[in-house]
Amino acid sequence: MDNFLLCDRDLPPALLERYMQAEAIAVDTETMGLKPGRDRLCLVQLCDGDGYVTALRIELGQGDAPNLKALMEAEAVTKIFHFARFDIAALKYQLGIQTAPFFCTKIASKLARTYSGSHGLKSLVKELAGVELDKSAQSSDWGNVMALSEEQLAYAANDVRYLIGLRQQLTAMLKREGRWELAEQCFCCLPTVVELDLRQFDNVFEH
Ligand code: MN
Repeated sequence: MDNFLLCDRDLPPALLERYMQAEAIAVDTETMGLKPGRDRLCLVQLCDGDGYVTALRIELGQGDAPNLKALMEAEAVTKIFHFARFDIAALKYQLGIQTAPFFCTKIASKLARTYSGSHGLKSLVKELAGVELDKSAQSSDWGNVMALSEEQLAYAANDVRYLIGLRQQLTAMLKREGRWELAEQCFCCLPTVVELDLRQFDNVFEH
């Protein structure tokens, strides 16, 4: 694959330095399942504005990644996710990372694209980037990180490749519709939602 680098345990210092210069980077994770307290983090993918993707393999039992943490917590770099609620919980639970600041394309889509009921990454990329994503590797075994297939790595890379463009388009739509501040407020309260998820509270706002 072009513009793709695999690395282990943590970001190499040169790459950290490069990403620290970016205004925003796209981030996604692959895990063993959907429960951060049960299902371990396997892969963290990063992509900057040049479309260069780095995939970081997380080892079994690994509890920290200092360079990744420095980037994810850097005030000057906005981290862009699709469904940030999940990835931020996984990064926090497994690596002790408090991701900030961030942008979530799923929240932005729900607030901006009220004409659609489809807010999955596949639908968003199709409508806004005109690209058909192949999601067939989504539910695969990410646990054997040293032996991931070409198909899995291509899938993992594509999950971050379009997020920077999506953020630009969704931000423009949100501003046009007078919903940008509401989106910012949603991003502000997401860390609380993540903490509630990790402590296994369901919906504390319900009657
Ligand atoms: Mn993914």
